[in-house]
Amino acid sequence: ILSQRLKKIADKILPNSKLADIGSDHALLPTYLAQKNRIQWAVAGEVNKGPYEAAKKQVESSNLQDMIKVRLGNGLEVLDKEEVDTIVIAGMGGGLIANILNQPFDYTGVNRLVLQPNVAEDKVRRWCIDHNWHLIEEDILEEDRKIYEILVAERSEDAYRYNQQIFSDEMYKMDCHIQLTRKLKILMGPHLLNNASLVFIKKWNMEIAKREKVIEQLSQSNLHDAVKKKRVFSEEVDQLKEVLKCLQ
Ligand code: SAM
Repeated sequence: ILSQRLKKIADKILPNSKLADIGSDHALLPTYLAQKNRIQWAVAGEVNKGPYEAAKKQVESSNLQDMIKVRLGNGLEVLDKEEVDTIVIAGMGGGLIANILNQPFDYTGVNRLVLQPNVAEDKVRRWCIDHNWHLIEEDILEEDRKIYEILVAERSEDAYRYNQQIFSDEMYKMDCHIQLTRKLKILMGPHLLNNASLVFIKKWNMEIAKREKVIEQLSQSNLHDAVKKKRVFSEEVDQLKEVLKCLQ
């Protein structure tokens, strides 16, 4: 059975897609989608031998060799030009996802990215902004006491204008006067902020607690760097608290 997280990711794949699942591990996502006839076919890419073998086994035992090609290689290098229209990269850090997206790759024909960073979601949002991918949707869920975000980006002519708009500095939100800066929106997610769920609020309360712990540790040092870092963290915590107060 597929996890809620992978199910939610599967729901972001448009019917009849030609899918690449990069870092596919056991190829659970393409197998599920192929069994439900929701994709034309898929490439399951893996950089590590173990997961690559596991993916091959899964595809063979499900008799889906015609629909799912399992390939060994680093990130997007397993893909041929104009082979897929949708790329999923899920279950890795945001830094690694951005590195993979930054590989020399011709995105012709690709019109949808479904990205699920486990941490550092801001790095993925920043990549979308810098490369004119229009961030159309964000989702958040909790499963097994972990909180996951799913980001969906599409390519469009006016992605630049659109992203400028959703990531713009906004002075006020609702009736509480908070400053919702571009930086905060990149950190927290513009759509998630707009539609703040209980899980989202829980996540940011936990993030504040994490930062407060770091601040406490930094307080024990008088070194210039520590003092500076502490100030940056404290400012961020103040801003985050203000946003949460407004959303709750
Ligand atoms: N995508 C699946 C999911 O969301 O459940 C599996 C996530 S698993 C935690 C991360 C997988 O990414 C591992 O199997 C790892 O080998 C693979 N991986 C890491 N870096 C990669 C890269 N540069 N290219 C391809 N696969 C990579």
